[in-house]
Amino acid sequence: MKIDNLFTSGKPAISFEIFPPKRDGDFQTVLQTIDALALLKPDYISVTYGAAGSERNNDTLELASRIKKEYGIEALAHLTSVGATKEDIKRILSVFEENQIENVLALRGDLPENPIVRDFKYAGDLVHFIKQNGAFGVGAACYPESHVESRSKTTDLIHLKQKVDQGVDFLVTQMFFDNEKFYEFKDEVRSLDINIPITVGIMPVLNKKQIERMVAISGAHLPEKFKKILNCYEDKPAALQDAGIMYACEQIVDLLSSGVDGIHLYVMNKPYVAKRILDNLSGILTTLR
Ligand code: FAD
Repeated sequence: MKIDNLFTSGKPAISFEIFPPKRDGDFQTVLQTIDALALLKPDYISVTYGAAGSERNNDTLELASRIKKEYGIEALAHLTSVGATKEDIKRILSVFEENQIENVLALRGDLPENPIVRDFKYAGDLVHFIKQNGAFGVGAACYPESHVESRSKTTDLIHLKQKVDQGVDFLVTQMFFDNEKFYEFKDEVRSLDINIPITVGIMPVLNKKQIERMVAISGAHLPEKFKKILNCYEDKPAALQDAGIMYACEQIVDLLSSGVDGIHLYVMNKPYVAKRILDNLSGILTTLR
């Protein structure tokens, strides 16, 4: 099923993001993660590609394929184009097709220190190419607080509009910790006549180092009450985890009340985090879904 069809029901879609194993031998652990996530009945699970320098891109295919075939859950395979040729992408798309993967999150990927641009300069070029070379549902990334390389919010929005016009079916946001930033962004996006569904990426904070790394990469604004939590519980992992999960829940309650199209949980391969969040929201989710 194409993921954009999920959004036509008017019910918020719930999805999880996982990443392939970092080392040989961890594949089984990721499968156990999927076992546990599957019990939570997400609408789809996405699998990252080449993120954080990983070269285990065959694992993205393998995991997405198993999510779809063995668990019967829709899969969203991430795909990055940085450094790739058209032939490379064509080959990957045909393997996706052979494995019944119907949905791709089309990304440029982070630029290496000495970037070699091959056939795709921006994610929009990849979106266009995917649409020309298959019948995939295509998602793309968007940045409520602008992409770090962007000169201004306005330029980033213009680029987003160009990307969407290349054939994007739905958008997934970068994580944010201040919902007001998302609401402002959404108003701006809609004013540009970008009318496709936007599902929001929520990252529950589980340790201070993780969040500092994420903030450095994404430039996300940390509200005072969030900083207070980090400072108070930085050396108390169990307490920080509780606070991080509660903070994410509070964000989600507000987002669901505002009628977002979907919630995409960056679960960091920790199914118990996803479970605790969904358990906390069970009454709300039953009502809305
Ligand atoms: P683009 O949309 O190409 O944007 C990149 C920059 O170029 C922006 O500053 C934009 O304003 C500018 N730009 C875009 N189009 C134009 C144009 N036509 N002219 C001039 N400038 C333009 N990375 C991974 O490696 N693997 C993953 O699996 C992965 N998953 C992700 C999932 C989500 C939901 C998100 C939000 C990010 C993910 N990333 C992943 C990170 C992503 O690859 C980086 O943020 C990357 O730096 C930008 O990718 P993009 O697809 O948003 O690029």
